[in-house]
Amino acid sequence: MASESFGFQAEISQLLDLIINTFYSNKEIFLREIISNSSDALDKVRYASLTDPSVLESEKELYIRITPDKENKLLCIRDTGIGMTKADLINNLGTIAKSGTKGFMEALSAGADISMIGQFGVGFYSAYLVAERVQVISKHNDDEQYIWESAAGGTFTITPDTVNPPIGRGTEVRLYLKEDQLEYLEEKRIKDIVKKHSEFISYPIQLAVTKEVEKEVEDEEEEKEEEDKEKPKIEEVDEDEDKEKGKKKKTIKEKTVENQELNKTKPIWTRNPNEITQEEYAAFYKSLTNDWEDHLAVKHFSVEGQLEFKAILFVPKRAPFDLFESKKKRNNIKLYVRRVFIMDDCEELMPEYLNFIKGIVDSEDLPLNISRETLQQNKILKVIRKNIVKKCLDLFQEIAEDKDNFTKFYEAFGKNIKLGVHEDAQNRSKLAEFLRFHSTKALDEQISLKDYITRMPEIQKSIYYLTGESLNAVKDSPFLEALKKKNFEVLLLVDPIDEYAITQLKEFEGHKLVCVSKEGLELEETEEEKKAREAEAAQFEELCKVMKDALGDKVEKVVVSNRVTDSPCVLVTGQFGWSANMERIMKAQALRDASMSSYMASKKTLELNPANPIVKVLKNKVAEDKADKSVRDLTYLLFETSLLTSGFVLDEPTSFAKRIHRMIALGLDVDEEQTPAEAPAAETSAPAAEPAAASAMEEID
Ligand code: ADP
Ligand code: MG
Repeated sequence: MASESFGFQAEISQLLDLIINTFYSNKEIFLREIISNSSDALDKVRYASLTDPSVLESEKELYIRITPDKENKLLCIRDTGIGMTKADLINNLGTIAKSGTKGFMEALSAGADISMIGQFGVGFYSAYLVAERVQVISKHNDDEQYIWESAAGGTFTITPDTVNPPIGRGTEVRLYLKEDQLEYLEEKRIKDIVKKHSEFISYPIQLAVTKEVEKEVEDEEEEKEEEDKEKPKIEEVDEDEDKEKGKKKKTIKEKTVENQELNKTKPIWTRNPNEITQEEYAAFYKSLTNDWEDHLAVKHFSVEGQLEFKAILFVPKRAPFDLFESKKKRNNIKLYVRRVFIMDDCEELMPEYLNFIKGIVDSEDLPLNISRETLQQNKILKVIRKNIVKKCLDLFQEIAEDKDNFTKFYEAFGKNIKLGVHEDAQNRSKLAEFLRFHSTKALDEQISLKDYITRMPEIQKSIYYLTGESLNAVKDSPFLEALKKKNFEVLLLVDPIDEYAITQLKEFEGHKLVCVSKEGLELEETEEEKKAREAEAAQFEELCKVMKDALGDKVEKVVVSNRVTDSPCVLVTGQFGWSANMERIMKAQALRDASMSSYMASKKTLELNPANPIVKVLKNKVAEDKADKSVRDLTYLLFETSLLTSGFVLDEPTSFAKRIHRMIALGLDVDEEQTPAEAPAAETSAPAAEPAAASAMEEID
């Protein structure tokens, strides 16, 4: 049957060009990538066999075999994995776009190394670092044997395989090496690369080693030898017997092929941690994750007793480029049962927020035929999971002992910790120890809640925080005024996820977490402070009422504040509703459906600062004449500026601007009639400047 030709998906084509035309010295990693794909394919068939053992009938042995062929400048890597159907070959090797393709090219142009390719899910194409032409011969149980072939250049072909011997099941990748890459046919070179990059692959990696041996044969048998030449021969020289018979002999050179196993070390997790070097852990980590960098921290442990398992857990140095890309399969925790690989990415072993931890778990107790479906209800697994989460927290604690390391860790995975605080009720208080925030006393660094507590003045009981869009937006917020005066530190939470986490946390080591922009802030105060405040509140009662009447539904109430000492006023929100920051986030996320937003949207209370001169004057105006028109206008201005300083979004910026412009006009003594756009306003030609401006302001309400 004829070949069918296909075009590579555009970005893959670009990637291939880049791989072929850019100079890289570290080409050897291609072998790691091809072997890693073989290992994945073997994992898949083994997993399938757990529920249907017959899938292995097409080929019982699971292995990877590397065969160098110097004559044809050809390097073959064969596996007895799951194989690919025709559709798989077309989809997986060239036509379906992968998010990593672009990501990898961007990373490269930003100075990343080609060896990172595996992390981006496009490792296969590294074959073109060394090969000018690649063939992939594959046989899946559900389809015939096919040949995929491409010399890059934008296209590949698929052909039903009628030329090669049947491979049973699995895949053979044939690399027709470039003239200057023939070193990869040398046994020594291959052995070194496998040792370096693929030592921990859990299937035998064989190298087909060709040996020339001298052999004595009887003359008359020569013809027969000739016939057998095709088959690889196992030496079986029995000299004595030959001598006895006293026949005529001749020495010939004969080639034999022997499959040498290159990765005979026993699984690293079964060894004694005291005897494993950091280099060995790093090598294992890299083989497990395709990471190009060493891990940041590792925990190797075994649990014994009612339940037994061994595990190695790693924290990477960086977050992967797509950490929060939802529903992407990733190889996080590999599950083994009594040394037999069961599955990649056993989600049931880790809560979502720990999705950056890599490693393996080898259980003594789980049944071998466990499947993804039965995993969910498995009790043993639940206990293992609980243990692992605890060990992760221990691991974070160890990282926290080194400040620099912890800073790196927190930069990469702080979001995960916060997510954990939000989700994991059981470990919430432990996780909270790892939180780090800026504060009014720590604008350049981040502090822990423990640090915060040790710095509290004696009178202070609660932990105070303010949420907002950025440090700049909150660091001079009016909400901080009174607290700063009292020398109370305030945590500044400027990551959108902070507010979710902190509202779940509620308290830390017996100290309530209190949002300083919400209603009902009870600042610790002395008796005198309290008396003074109450007396003041009484004096301002009337002003509060007038202002509330003016603002109508825009605010719940108007009260005297204990939290502002400089600004005239702030807008606080209800204790259980959204804060200004949350309202902003929700609006930005378009997450709010209309009903939710009216239900949750912040009920605002305007708090007045009785010590502020503007507020004092207003109070006097009201005392003189309750119906003073300018009070109403000024109230609006104060309300709208408070929206801004309190972190809300102005719903009607234009009317606010108009009000301000009128104030400016008033200040500059500009005659309203000179602004033609404001013609209707000019009709109210009142004699005095102030009432004129005031009534004009009113009209745009
Ligand atoms: P990744 O391994 O990260 O998925 P690759 O570019 O290395 O990305 O491989 C692309 C896909 O090709 C694999 O996901 C797999 O579906 C398929 N593939 C590659 N090599 C093999 C193989 N030896 N056996 C079966 N499938 C393979
Ligand atoms: Mg791969």
